[in-house]
Amino acid sequence: MTTREDARGLDDADPLAGFRERFTGDGPGGAWDDGPGRRIYLDGNSLGRLPRATPAAVARVVEEEWGRGLVGSWAHWVGQATRVGDVLAAGVLGARPGEVLVADSTSVNLYKLLQAGVGARPGRDVLVCCADDFPTDRYVVAGVAEQHGMTVREVAADVDTGLTLDDITAVLDDRVAVVVLSLVAYRSGAMVDLAAVTELARASGALVLWDLSHAVGSVEVDLSAADLAVGCTYKHLNGGPGAPAFLYVRRELQGSLRQPIQGWFGQRDQFAMGPAYEPTDGVERFAVGTPPVLATAAVEVGARISAEAGMPAIAAKGRALTDLLVTLVDERLPQLRLASPRESDRRGAHVSVEHPQAWQLTQALVDRGVVPDFRTPDRIRFGPAPLYTRFVDVWDAVDRLADVLASDAHLPYSATRSRVT
Ligand SMILES: *Cc1c(COP(=O)(O)O)cnc(C)c1O
Repeated sequence: MTTREDARGLDDADPLAGFRERFTGDGPGGAWDDGPGRRIYLDGNSLGRLPRATPAAVARVVEEEWGRGLVGSWAHWVGQATRVGDVLAAGVLGARPGEVLVADSTSVNLYKLLQAGVGARPGRDVLVCCADDFPTDRYVVAGVAEQHGMTVREVAADVDTGLTLDDITAVLDDRVAVVVLSLVAYRSGAMVDLAAVTELARASGALVLWDLSHAVGSVEVDLSAADLAVGCTYKHLNGGPGAPAFLYVRRELQGSLRQPIQGWFGQRDQFAMGPAYEPTDGVERFAVGTPPVLATAAVEVGARISAEAGMPAIAAKGRALTDLLVTLVDERLPQLRLASPRESDRRGAHVSVEHPQAWQLTQALVDRGVVPDFRTPDRIRFGPAPLYTRFVDVWDAVDRLADVLASDAHLPYSATRSRVT
């Protein structure tokens, strides 16, 4: 049996332990409440915590750059999307300078890069996506396919263990233009091999558009092996609710790709206010309109924290935290079935468990201070974000769940799911 003392020992040896203090806790004044009744937030993969440095960084942009600098601050703001993109590229994504842009939402960036990819593969009439991918990805693929009279081929992944290379090989042929895939699956956390899948697709002449939403800031990503990618900054990157997303386009492809929204921020010599759209060079051609300057300031703070901690250390801790969770579920909660890959190198920094009353259990947990996610149809998803979750937090969360199950405390809760889960 793994004891609470064992978990404490893991915390004592944790090289990232100090990063917790970079984030706002739940106690008075944002201090960390380490008491037995404290909240245990295991949903950093849905909305990351607030970095302590963010309010001041945003306030500085508001008060100095906007308040005093006014329109003159645009000289500085026009470079922000690529400046923060470069922080992500170097520190988090394994990309080169000038390959990452912070802009728009993940859904919009998916649309832009998918359209660009389709345009770069004329004559091909099939798009591939995963039947179990996050809804927005499937909806965007379906919409683009409809617009072009293309067919969608859905790969049927194992919901718990994810896609295999054979699954992908089976749907590739010379009709496929673009494959849209999540590197880390949103429900199970299952991870695929980015380089191997990209190579398979390239060999058949297709592009892969990676969605890194659950991967960025939780696992090591090497985009030097990829062509196109998008992802969120409000999950493991702690950029805040509604923070702009990022997009990545391999340098060698940028000049040959056209995005569908011809906005003035993607225009060559933007302030010439010329008569016709002519996309600028570089990754900025995938920009559209005036960027969210305030929100991007918050993204920069979060991105710099992950870059400073280093993705190898963050990913290693993510594997160790989820390994502990899997071990404790095995030891103490036989009523639950693991709904994620067992091998830690095959998953991101979250795991799911299955139980017929998962929604009721989720509500009972939230009332006992443990915040996971419920995911359809019957999964509880735990995302112990490596930068601020301790091993003892995972231990206590499982302990509270064991109490709920032992006392049937979840049974009085409604079995009907609420609108936001
Ligand atoms: C969270 C998530 C999104 C969110 O897209 P938004 O446009 O930010 O709402 C998209 N795709 C995946 C795989 C996600 O996990």
